[in-house]
Amino acid sequence: MGNKINISEPQIEEKEIKAVVNVLKSRNIVQGELVAKIEEKFSKLCGVEYAIATSNGTSALHTALFAAGVGEGDEVITTPFTFVATVNSILMVGATPVLVDIDEGTFNINPREIEKAVSKKTKAIITVDLYGQPVDYSEIRKIAKKHKLIIIEDAAQSVNASYKGKKTGNLADIGCFSFYATKNITCGEGGMVTTNNKNFYIKAKEFINHGQRIGKNYDYVGIGYNYRMTDIAAAILLEQLKKVDMFTKKRQKNANRYNNAFFRTNGIIIPEIAPNRTHVFHQYTIRVAQPFPITRDRLKVLLESKGIMSRIYYPIPLYRFFHIKKDSRIFDCPVTDRVSREVLSLPVHPALSKSEIDYIIDAVIGQ
Ligand SMILES: *Cc1c(COP(=O)(O)O)cnc(C)c1O
Repeated sequence: MGNKINISEPQIEEKEIKAVVNVLKSRNIVQGELVAKIEEKFSKLCGVEYAIATSNGTSALHTALFAAGVGEGDEVITTPFTFVATVNSILMVGATPVLVDIDEGTFNINPREIEKAVSKKTKAIITVDLYGQPVDYSEIRKIAKKHKLIIIEDAAQSVNASYKGKKTGNLADIGCFSFYATKNITCGEGGMVTTNNKNFYIKAKEFINHGQRIGKNYDYVGIGYNYRMTDIAAAILLEQLKKVDMFTKKRQKNANRYNNAFFRTNGIIIPEIAPNRTHVFHQYTIRVAQPFPITRDRLKVLLESKGIMSRIYYPIPLYRFFHIKKDSRIFDCPVTDRVSREVLSLPVHPALSKSEIDYIIDAVIGQ
């Protein structure tokens, strides 16, 4: 095969291009009608009362923590096996990240480890639906209820996934999404905050618009940022949203094809789907372990030599980085340490053909 197979590929078609051209021609290029429309449609997808469009997923997380009233002196429990923005957002509001270990099967935060880490200062939990699979919300809700904690869902990777029949964005007190170019739906850069709580909604809406009181120009309730989405981005996202079910099905089908091929391969551990939830396969992530004949890193290089771009999400647990280590409370994370040496994500995006998937399967099994 001559062409490279990329790990991700934004699915941009004529519809998205036309939608952007229409916005440009209208001259209404900043926040306007289309942002209002995507907020309405996205809230319907999630089944929540409110959705607030933001400039990206990181600003959505920052906004959610602010709206939840998390600040200096507070602790926020989360996973070290995530993208850095999850933990950076906690530092951005001056709170202390508390990093606990994950569950080996799902790669998601382990509720039992959360329970051990709760202190008098704990204010919130940020769950991350890693690779597109929701965490065990029933278990996490029990802990949150017992200790009066707010749950913030980092659903950057899990748009359209569900847990016990409820969609992501509606599984915690506040949900946060990203529409970065590699995510399941994209508008280049973009994000969303979702909630059923009116107070959180008002705070979030003000925060992303310079702290300006809703409906009152130049009247500021407090500090705010410019975290608004533009109508240019919203136009793209409206088209993407129409295809989210189709994208999801294609990813799930690709994942299934891999599973059927790999489940008998010694040393390849296929991703586990825990009960009561759907997995939208933002990433299809295998573990490469004994007795597979070569190491994970060697397999990655070999795949690359065959034009297959695999990626390691995430090679270094976040507690290893100085700026995080120095300001966090860190628990033992033997599972995170181990799986960060074993995980390898293979291309699973909707544009892959059956023959490309078969080619990747042969390249892995052939080792
Ligand atoms: C992508 C991502 C983010 C950050 O989103 P951006 O839009 O890139 O700012 C946060 N958390 C997780 C888990 C992500 O995958």
